[in-house]
Amino acid sequence: MPADLIAPARRAAADFPLFVPEPYLSRIRRGDPADPLLRQVLPLDAELDDVAGYSTDPVDDAAAKTTAGLLQKYAGRALLITTGACAIHCRYCFRRHYPYSESPGGIEAWTPALAEIAADASLDEVILSGGDPLTLSDGFLAELAARIGAIPHIRRLRVHTRLPIVIPQRVTAELIAALRGTRLATIVVVHANHPQELDATVATALAQLADAGIVLLNQAVLLRGVNDNAAALAELSRTLVNHRVMPYYLHQLDPVAGAAHFHVPVERGRELVQELLSMLPGYAVPRYVREIPGALSKTTLAECP
Ligand code: SF4
Repeated sequence: MPADLIAPARRAAADFPLFVPEPYLSRIRRGDPADPLLRQVLPLDAELDDVAGYSTDPVDDAAAKTTAGLLQKYAGRALLITTGACAIHCRYCFRRHYPYSESPGGIEAWTPALAEIAADASLDEVILSGGDPLTLSDGFLAELAARIGAIPHIRRLRVHTRLPIVIPQRVTAELIAALRGTRLATIVVVHANHPQELDATVATALAQLADAGIVLLNQAVLLRGVNDNAAALAELSRTLVNHRVMPYYLHQLDPVAGAAHFHVPVERGRELVQELLSMLPGYAVPRYVREIPGALSKTTLAECP
């Protein structure tokens, strides 16, 4: 690392520490401050700027909270904030200021949230989010999945996780058994932003999940200096599809305090989607979306086939 980046990194990491696991670190080019993986995790002085329009709760999670740990934003789905822990700290994370300490701890503490899901027959899908739910033990995940699977009107279990990308060794037979041990359809939504994240170890992890009958989707965030070029986004989509992961969303950056330096204007995002449409089969072009607090769904920013 160039020495002049170290003091700013220490300053910016004061309230959201630098945190990068070894397997992800090994994919970062040494000594290159422009490396697209390094940029996602490197604290910069720019994070300390107070930028108008950027807040600590950009998608209004607070308004969606119904019971401790339970968020409900969209029809038919309920989301559990299962943990505050992640395997990596992404500097652009929209929950980097989330009050995780308010979420339940052990399995019994989830009883009120699960009771609320059981009482609402309009729900058919439960999403495990966080933090990263795969930082939890296999035993806890198996128990949680079993309790969710015991609710008759729930048909699908969706897991939002970056762990198969950043520590692919987390994907084991025991984890798959925990996720697939119920009657529920299992969907795993991973989070990769750049093709350099998808090395051979990640390919193995994704193959294990796909072979187990898990539906795999990817959500990416459009990030300045990381993936705001068509070549990188196209290669990301191609590699994902080759690994049986469907490119699901390309998110416009949520305006979270500390992340303004990652902003890409929507007009540029639309241009990129147009370029992707000319480069890829339609199914490999993710939906370019933004989350608007209070809206009934994600808002599409560019039409795709
Ligand atoms: S893994 Fe996801 S939840 Fe965790 S810091 Fe990164 S973006 Fe945020």
